This record gives sequence, C-alpha cells and structure tokens, in this order.
Amino acid sequence: MNPRSTTHPFSAPDDDKFREECGVFGIYGSDDSAALTALGLHALQHRGQEAAGIVSYDGSRFYPHRALGLVGDIFGEQEIIDTLPGDSAIGHVRYSTTGETALRNVQPLYADYSFGGLALAHNGNLTNAASLRHDLVNRGSLFQSTSDTEVFQHLIATSSGARLLDRVVETLREVEGAFSLVALSRRKLIGARDPKGFRPLILGSLGDASIITSETCALDIIGAEFVRDVEPGEIIVVDEEGLHSHTPFPATRKRFCIFEYIYFARPDSSVEGRNVYETRKAIGAELARESLVDADFVIPVPDSGVPAAIGFAQESHLPFELGLIRNHYVGRTFIEPIDEIRHLGVKLKHNANRQQLEGKRVILVDDSIVRGTTSRKIVEMVRQAGAREVHMRISSPPTMHSCFYGIDTPERGQLLAANLDVEGIRQQINADSLAYVSIDGLYRAMGEAGRNNDEPQFCDACFTGDYPISLTDFDEGGATAQMSLLAGLA
Ligand code: SF4
Repeated sequence: MNPRSTTHPFSAPDDDKFREECGVFGIYGSDDSAALTALGLHALQHRGQEAAGIVSYDGSRFYPHRALGLVGDIFGEQEIIDTLPGDSAIGHVRYSTTGETALRNVQPLYADYSFGGLALAHNGNLTNAASLRHDLVNRGSLFQSTSDTEVFQHLIATSSGARLLDRVVETLREVEGAFSLVALSRRKLIGARDPKGFRPLILGSLGDASIITSETCALDIIGAEFVRDVEPGEIIVVDEEGLHSHTPFPATRKRFCIFEYIYFARPDSSVEGRNVYETRKAIGAELARESLVDADFVIPVPDSGVPAAIGFAQESHLPFELGLIRNHYVGRTFIEPIDEIRHLGVKLKHNANRQQLEGKRVILVDDSIVRGTTSRKIVEMVRQAGAREVHMRISSPPTMHSCFYGIDTPERGQLLAANLDVEGIRQQINADSLAYVSIDGLYRAMGEAGRNNDEPQFCDACFTGDYPISLTDFDEGGATAQMSLLAGLA
C-alpha cells in the first residue's frame, strides 16, 4: 500500500480533510493505569480512529491489548481492562500514515531486548524511516510490521548504549522527521519530542501519578492536572526516583505544526500555550478583517468550521446561524470510498437547514479545502436549499503541499490548490466568492506580527512548501523516493 494513500478502507466517505495520524498516552504510578489510559485514548479519538492499543506493566511482566476499531469498542468492557494490570501503561490511537491497515502495525509495539521489555508508541512520521530500515535490514534486522515506528525499536536494539536512556538518545539522533513518543520499560516511563516539536506532547499529573500525552483533553477526562508542554528535543524519564528531564540535542528553532491549531487538535485542548478554540476564533476574526463581504449571516461547515465561523461572525457583527446540520451517526465502514459514493457521503453527513437558507446571502466558513470534492457538494447543497449567494471563506491558506510529518495528506497532484489558483478553485466549487486567510493573517491570529520569513515560528509547509526538515526518503511531489526504497526491499 502506498504509505501516502489517497483513499482508505476506513475513510468516512466525504472526509475530504487532512487527517491527524496518532495520539499517545502514558501513565506511571497509578493502580488504575489501564482504565485511565483507555479514557485518555477515548479523549484522543479524533487523532486516530483506525486502531488502538494499550500495554501495561505490573512489576513482573507486560500485558498488551491491541485491536482495529474505536477505543470504546476495544476497551469498553471491564474484562478487557482487567487483563491489563499494573501501575504503569502506555496507549496509542492510530490512523496510519505509514504501514497498511493491519493488526501487526497497531501500537504500542513491544519487543524483548537484552535489558528487558520495551513498549513504544509514536505520533509523527519519520522522513528517513525507509533509508534507516534499508540499512537495518542489510545488517540483519527482521521487521515484523511496515510501520516506521518499528525503526525506533531496531535502532534501540542495535545501539551500543549502556543504559536505556543512552540507547534512546542514540536512536533519536539517527531519526529525522516528527516524533512525539511514549515508551514503557520495566522501570521507566519515557516521553520524547523531536527537536522541532512538530507534534504536541504534554506532561500532566494525577495525584502521585505522572502522565505524558498528546493533548490536554486527555488530562481533563481523568481529572488530571496540566503541568507543562514537553519541550521540543526534551526527553522525560519517570521512574521510582521521580521525573527527570534530559535535553541531549543541540538547540534549534522549534516549528510546531500550525495546522494543529487550524484543524487537528481538539478545540478544548491547549497546546504550546494557546487554547485551540480561542485560536480558531481568532483566525476566523482575521479572515473577516481580510475578506468580509456583504451577506445576511455566517454559517459554519460543522463541526470543524464552527469556531472560525464564530470568530468571523463576531468580528463582522453578522448573525451566526447553523445553516448546515451534521449527522453524527454516519457509519464508517459500510461504504466503499469511491468517487461516486463519496459524493453521496456528503449528504449522509450534512444536511442543509432549508428554512434558514432560503433567499439568503450566506458566508460559509470551513477550515480547509483539500481535494475540493466536499466543498463543491456543500456549496451545491446550500444553493439547492435556496441560498441566493454562497461566499466561501477558509480559515487556512491554500493547502498546496503534502505533509511528511505525521499528517495523512493526498499526494500533491490531488491537492486542488496545487493545481488551481483561488479563482480556479472558486469556479470548481461554484461559490459566488472564495477567500482564504493569508499566511501573515494566520500568524497575526496566532499573536505574531506576521510570518518571520527568515525564521518561521511554526511549520506551515503545507501552505508554503518550506519544509523545516529534509525529506530524505521523499520527493516533494509524493512518495517516489520512499517507494523505490521500499520496492528495493521487496
Ligand atoms: Fe502541520 Fe502542514 Fe507542517 Fe504537516 S506540513 S506538520 S500539516 S503545518
């Protein structure tokens, strides 16, 4: 399977979005570690709906449970939680960027080493995983999965480091790309974030227990307190002596993924010191300042367009209305993701609120346009419900480039904005007008003066093509380099 797949057997049929790939959760020092991990993963479900897993440790052995499906379906029964004893555990929700949909790729991955067992779960994507894998296979490593996360395990196994921490540091020096990971050994919970800090990772506490996870919403659900973000390039080790911080990498400018604020993170989370909901509203307000048009009211494309639409409406002093109603009970697996039915899927998920829309001029706010299939259908739906004018406003700049740092995106050729200018896209989706927030406007909404082009404050490569880390295994058009490496392995 192409690691940068454009369709997916578990895709919601109209899910024309960039997709977050993974969420991680780790806890040390609680008798309810597995139950708390399951709850944390439930709160992180938006970061991956394909599969989930937990590995716990009870002082004598590790206990894994991994399956395809949603967290509630996998860990909803007490009997399953009872099979995961111990006072420490790590867990993972997954939507694959690399590796096909298969149980062997479901994390946490576990391996027995000379120093004991180690379970590992990873959010992000390594840009040199195929090259490293190639070298490791040539040196005799036998891979069990196609996930690039397994590369960490083999590098740790072949490291000459004396202590586990030394092996982890040596491993993290070899990998390139994005990683926010948690690992569990017999004595330690480890959390690590790549030096650029692409993906979020935070530290929390619940009584005497320490927690390392992707977002604050995973702390809220279990009543845990937010302590701080794990710093880019930081390795946190929690053991019976307490919590230790290590910063073994040279300092570099961090480049947190700006798209986490636009779409991926849950709106009730705070990441890198910013509340996601407030940030989305601020982006919507900036969008209104940049591209207000005469209209009767503002409507969001639910759910992800809602905070930006609220910000747009507040800034423009236009009414905010729910012109589209979302059905939250759309099945995920019963429709093949083929184009014809993808179109039907929009109607399965959204319905126009005809009484609101009839005869009105509406501003329709969404967070992004990827292939454009959904946007075209939504505009058409609003028109068919009687809207007189439909003005589309997008709370991100045009997505013109693929992501190689842990977000599932189509290959570049399938991104509408890579092929058409704004006017071309407007025609394609049949809106009366179309505007995106500018890149500087996006940075202003983040509280910055604008984008610092010499030293950008965030990763924004999917808008600018300015990739902060070399794409060793990829070319910018897609996966050619990586695929040829993988083909060489076959
Ligand atoms: Fe985020 Fe886009 Fe950078 Fe990927 S390329 S990490 S989606 S900003």
